[in-house]
Amino acid sequence: MRLLIKNGTVVTPKASFAADLLAEDGRIAAVVRTGFLADAAADQVLDAAGLHILPGIMDPHVHFRDPGHTYKEDFATGSAAAAVGGVTTVFDMPNNMPRTVGLEELREKLAAIRGKAYVDYALYGLLTSDNYSHLPELVDAGVRGFKCLMGISAMNTPTGRDVDIWRGAALLRDTGIPISVHAEDTQIVDVVRSELKAAQRQDPLAHMESHPVISETIAVERAIMAAEAVGGRIHIAHISSRDTVHLVRKAKRRGVRVSCEVGPHNLYFTDADYLRKGSSMFMNPPIRSREDQEALLEGLRDGTVDMIATDHAPHSEEEKSTEKGVFSAKSGFCGVETEVSVMLTLVNRGLISLEDYVRAGSENVAKLFRLYPRKGCIQPGSDADLTIVDLSARHVVHREDLHSRSKITAFDGEELTGAPVYTVLRGKVIMDHGRLLGSPSGIFLK
Ligand SMILES: [Zn+2]
Repeated sequence: MRLLIKNGTVVTPKASFAADLLAEDGRIAAVVRTGFLADAAADQVLDAAGLHILPGIMDPHVHFRDPGHTYKEDFATGSAAAAVGGVTTVFDMPNNMPRTVGLEELREKLAAIRGKAYVDYALYGLLTSDNYSHLPELVDAGVRGFKCLMGISAMNTPTGRDVDIWRGAALLRDTGIPISVHAEDTQIVDVVRSELKAAQRQDPLAHMESHPVISETIAVERAIMAAEAVGGRIHIAHISSRDTVHLVRKAKRRGVRVSCEVGPHNLYFTDADYLRKGSSMFMNPPIRSREDQEALLEGLRDGTVDMIATDHAPHSEEEKSTEKGVFSAKSGFCGVETEVSVMLTLVNRGLISLEDYVRAGSENVAKLFRLYPRKGCIQPGSDADLTIVDLSARHVVHREDLHSRSKITAFDGEELTGAPVYTVLRGKVIMDHGRLLGSPSGIFLK
C-alpha cells in the first residue's frame, strides 16, 4: 500500500519546506521535491496544497477510563476523538479499575482495549506505596511511564509519598522510564479549601484559589529533589504556574533529568474565564493568571516546557455539576479532540511557532518516551503518522460534535483558527475532514 501526499508543506522542529511525501507499508519511504513523483507511483494520492504536514501529534496524558469507568469514556470513544482531532498516539493513565499496579492488571487493561483503539497507544503503570516489587514486570511488559499522585487523589487512586518517588526513581534509573508526578500538596489544598468553604465561597474562582501556587511548587520541588538524589528521571505533569516553570528551568540547568508538560487549556484560558466557563474549566492544578500563562508560553518557546499534554479527563454531567456546591464538582474535561485546533490558534495568534508545536507536540514526546525515531519525525523509515492541518480553517467548537462519551469541555463555543483535515496512522488515512474512516487499527507501543 503506497500513499502519496503531494503539494504540501512539511513541518519539522527546525524548518518548514515544500515537499511531496511517499508512505509505503506503513512507513515513510521518501520525502522529495514537489512534483518529483508521478501519481502512478501510489495507490492513493492526497492533494495537500495549502496544507501543512506535521509529524503525528502525540498526547502523553489521557484518561480513556477503560476498564472500570466506561460511563465516562472507553477506549473506542476516546481514541476516535483522538483520531478526529489529529492525534496519532496517546499515552493512557493507570487510574482505571482495576488500577494498573501489576502485570495481572496490565493484562486486564490490554484485554479491555483490544480491538477498540483507532490510534496507537502506550500505557502508564501506577506507582504507589506498595507496588515496588511489580515495577520490573510492568517495565518488561512494555509500560512506558509510571504515574505517581503526590497526595491529591483522583477517583480514590492510591497516592505515593516522597519516599516512593525516591525509591521508584532509583529502581527505574537505568531504564530511562520516567515517573510522571501529579505534583500538588494535599495539606495546603485541604486547609485552604476548608477556609474558603467556611467563608461560604461558591463562585468558580474559589476552585483556583483552593489550589494556591505554593501547593504546586512545594510538591514539584520535592519530586525533583527525590529524583535528583538518585540520578533518576522525573516528569512533572500538567504544570500551571510561573513559579513551576522557574523551578524546572533551574533544575534543568543543574543537570537534573527532569521534563514537564503543559495543557492547551493553560495556554488558552486564564482566571478571567472562570465566571463564563464555570466548572467546565476545573482542572487540577488549575488554570491560573495571565502572568502564569505568559511564563508557560515563554517556557514552551525556550524549551523549558517539553511537551503539550491534554490531560483529557472526561466526567459525567452529574460529576461536573455544582448543584451540591462548587467544591463537589470534579476536575477534568475532554481535550484530546481539540488540542490541535487550539494549538494552531495559538500559532495563528503569534504566541508560538508551528515548529515549536511540532517539537512539543510530537518530537519531544517520542524522544522522552523512547519512541524516537519510530515516532515523532518525518523521515524515511519512520512510521507514517501524520497530522495534516489547514492553518486558516475557522470553526466553532460544539460539544455535541465531540466523539468522546462525555461532552463536557471548556472549549465548547470557542472560535478557533486552524484544524486537522487528515490524520494518517502508519500510512493509512483514518480521518478525512472530520470523518473517522475504517475500523480500529491502533497498536500497543510496548
Ligand atoms: Zn491526568
